[in-house]
Amino acid sequence: MSKKVLVLEDEANIRSFIVINLKRAGYETVEAGTGQDALDQLRRNPDINVALLDVMLPDMDGFEVCRRIRAGDNRIGIIMLTARTQEMDKVTGLMTGADDYVTKPFSPAELTARIDALCRRTTGEPAPADTGEISCPPFLLNTRNRTLEKNGQRVKLTQVEYSIVKLFMDNIGKALAREEILDAVWGKDYFGEVKIVDVNIRRLRIKIEDDPTNPTYITTVWGYGYKWGF
Ligand code: CA
Repeated sequence: MSKKVLVLEDEANIRSFIVINLKRAGYETVEAGTGQDALDQLRRNPDINVALLDVMLPDMDGFEVCRRIRAGDNRIGIIMLTARTQEMDKVTGLMTGADDYVTKPFSPAELTARIDALCRRTTGEPAPADTGEISCPPFLLNTRNRTLEKNGQRVKLTQVEYSIVKLFMDNIGKALAREEILDAVWGKDYFGEVKIVDVNIRRLRIKIEDDPTNPTYITTVWGYGYKWGF
């Protein structure tokens, strides 16, 4: 699966520098020179995984573009391209919608590393040999339909519960910190409390454990988090 990146930058030479390097790193790119252009491109290309947004633009600032994207899409990854230290102050103040930021001048390697990290977080892209199923008897997780079966019987899960189970099955036997679960499932820019993890896991246990008061699938790692299995 090829990854698609929107590059919003009004300075043509910087934009082509970024585009050339992203293409070399195996990305598909879509270019935009104004904020409006970027929003139009996103509508035309709903499969864009990551948007790189320059801050200083002729028609609107990059933060406004970010806000407008986030108003309709929480899935896409957003990286702000900032030029000056004062813009960086603004970034930290306005991290509401952006996932990350990169300060100019940046090296192509730095930029692609940040995009790669974000793609992993936002798409959870399956490995090429992925059959679409994770088997962990008595459970079977279907990653295409986002469904879970226990002993062949469908367990009805919310999207969040599904994401938690998927995270555990990708990390069988590994203790996961509550903060780690929060970041992976709710996203880094979620401002709620870590308690939401406990609430969801309590509900999940009722659905999947043989005896929810004595869990054997999702076990507690005291003072740390949770683990799949012992
Ligand atoms: Ca600019």
